[in-house]
Amino acid sequence: MDPFNFKDMSRIDRPKLGNEVPLELFRTIRLIGMYQGLPMNGKATTVTIGRKIGENLPVDSMDELFQIVEKLKIGIPKIVLSDERTVCVAIEDCFCKGLPQAEGKRVCDLEGAILEGAINRFSTRKASVREVKCNVNGDEHCEYEIRFL
Ligand SMILES: [Zn+2]
Repeated sequence: MDPFNFKDMSRIDRPKLGNEVPLELFRTIRLIGMYQGLPMNGKATTVTIGRKIGENLPVDSMDELFQIVEKLKIGIPKIVLSDERTVCVAIEDCFCKGLPQAEGKRVCDLEGAILEGAINRFSTRKASVREVKCNVNGDEHCEYEIRFL
């Protein structure tokens, strides 16, 4: 039995520093610690971490998921394409926005895995999520392709 659940994460008692940390710290953990610190840019690890986080988010629909993604300031999701088997979601104001560009690099795989874990809580068809665009790569926004089996 895990000692912590997602609800516990909002139990904060820090009188001086409050309930926020700078985006700078989050980026440092994500990019310097994980992306640059782990083998293969942390690929396997970010998928495991992201899915686990997604599975723990209290969401039962795409709407609820999008709301929590914005509330947690992961970004502002918008569906840009939707058909029988595929939904493409663009993320505005992703944490990576403003970083130096590096062609061929996509750095928001963790966030995609979070979406995947969360969608598989409520979806009747198994979903798999792939990062297809990223600001860092020079794309116009970060984007995920969700495929339903
Ligand atoms: Zn991004």
